[in-house]
Amino acid sequence: MDERVKTDVLVVGGGPGGRVSYMALKQFGMADVKMVANEEPTVICSLPYGIGRRLVPEGPEAVVVDLSKSHRLPPTILQDVLQGNCVELDLDRREAVVQGKGGRKTVTFEHLVLAPGAVPWIPPVDGVLGGKGAETGTGILYGDEWVDKGRLAENVFVLRGANDARRLDAFASKREKAVVVGTGAIGLETAEALADRGVSVVLVEALPHAVAALDGDMALRLEERLAARNVKVFKSARVDRVLPEGLKLEDGTLLEADGIVFATGVRPDLRLAKQAGLFIEKGIRVDSRMQTSHPRVFAVGDAVQVTDAGTGVGILPLIGTLAMRQAMVAAANIAGRQMDLSPVTAWGVSEIFGLHWGSVGWTEEMATRVGIPVAGLSQPVRTRDPFMPEGREGAWKLVVATAPHGSVKPGQILGFQVVQDGDSPLFLAERFLDIIARRETVTDLFAHYFIHSPAHNAVDDPYLGILGQAMRMFGQ
Ligand SMILES: Cc1cc2nc3c(=O)[nH]c(=O)nc-3n(C[C@H](O)[C@H](O)[C@H](O)COP(=O)(O)OP(=O)(O)OC[C@H]3O[C@@H](n4cnc5c(N)ncnc54)[C@H](O)[C@@H]3O)c2cc1C
Repeated sequence: MDERVKTDVLVVGGGPGGRVSYMALKQFGMADVKMVANEEPTVICSLPYGIGRRLVPEGPEAVVVDLSKSHRLPPTILQDVLQGNCVELDLDRREAVVQGKGGRKTVTFEHLVLAPGAVPWIPPVDGVLGGKGAETGTGILYGDEWVDKGRLAENVFVLRGANDARRLDAFASKREKAVVVGTGAIGLETAEALADRGVSVVLVEALPHAVAALDGDMALRLEERLAARNVKVFKSARVDRVLPEGLKLEDGTLLEADGIVFATGVRPDLRLAKQAGLFIEKGIRVDSRMQTSHPRVFAVGDAVQVTDAGTGVGILPLIGTLAMRQAMVAAANIAGRQMDLSPVTAWGVSEIFGLHWGSVGWTEEMATRVGIPVAGLSQPVRTRDPFMPEGREGAWKLVVATAPHGSVKPGQILGFQVVQDGDSPLFLAERFLDIIARRETVTDLFAHYFIHSPAHNAVDDPYLGILGQAMRMFGQ
């Protein structure tokens, strides 16, 4: 017979969304909270750096969170974690079935927080599967089919979890050649990590340029940096099949390699939400309180769809810090405190071989694809005054609506991109995140002050530079 457990709140998923939900519920005074976790907790964003060793010299083990030692998590977490997979939900009975190594538990709850996250997506080409590894309980989407990671072929890798990082770390120690498929942040960070470990790396990208979160003109700077570090990018390239000796492209090219890393995106894990009958579009639909279509069920993190503040379109941002913010909102509302998620859009900031890039909201290419009329305004920037030899070059690009479109108004800033050498543009990206989420226009940039400090930037005010361009564009 199943063991029976009763709790006030059950959190499903032990990633950033689940862990912060647990932590916040406790902070808001909920005494009885349980969390179902099916893998070791990690600081997932640092996994590539654990492999590369440049920023995490101790390797991937340093990135695994030891729940008994974590100063941020309540000590009760050790007894509140139910190790295993939540395999069934019955929302009418308020019951969840958790299958673990020690058997099955039926958990009765008053409220449920779903934080199942996302899983790596791999195109359904031959050669990806075939491994005889033990079942892991965590998976990937192979096309539309969920498969356990234990079934990945021996030379196929993904990166989303401690065990993936350990496999890639072992690979980096002994192999010589890798192909990384996908040039988003995870693909580039993984390529850099492998290169830092002495692995010879090539990248494969289906689009005509690297980094889908940047427009081609901005991505060019990254491509030049990759080339300078001997990392070749095969662009407009489609994967045909994985072979024991490497990766074959549709045009017949064979890229010889000992390992193929698929960084081809992630998709929300919607299995439980579907089984429970929750309202789903691109992801689980929630309101601004993170409540799903069922009043006792909240959902947070990568499995959740949010409304893009600039355009009103449903998007899947797939961002860890957003998962954590959503967790705080869900926990507050379950604990009886009214809290809403602030208007939001998607963003990404990363660095590759010393070149920093950031993208917030929509690129010109993305907006054009869905028919939003936009123009790109580019502004060169320098990280020091022009007469300072330490200064490095960079560029900003703003994506601005040129005509009304749905709720979008002319002049509204829909996207911001930055590529710059040397210094991090993180605070800048945060400023534009607010500008975009608050639906500001280019003329509103006049309200934003610019601080000049010779050790940090050049004296030219880039906000005024962009504003000048916008005034010319709108004939003012
Ligand atoms: C290499 C890498 C680098 C990244 N870098 C950044 C970054 O720099 N900044 C940033 O903001 N974001 C970054 N991200 C994205 C960020 O990690 C995710 O947005 C974040 O992990 C989402 O958290 P989550 O809790 O929603 O989902 P997840 O982290 O996917 O966690 C969900 C957990 O729930 C488990 N689960 C699913 N179903 C069940 C079930 N039925 N029963 C039990 N458990 C279940 C899953 O196995 C998983 O452990 C990065 C991601 C990766 C992979």
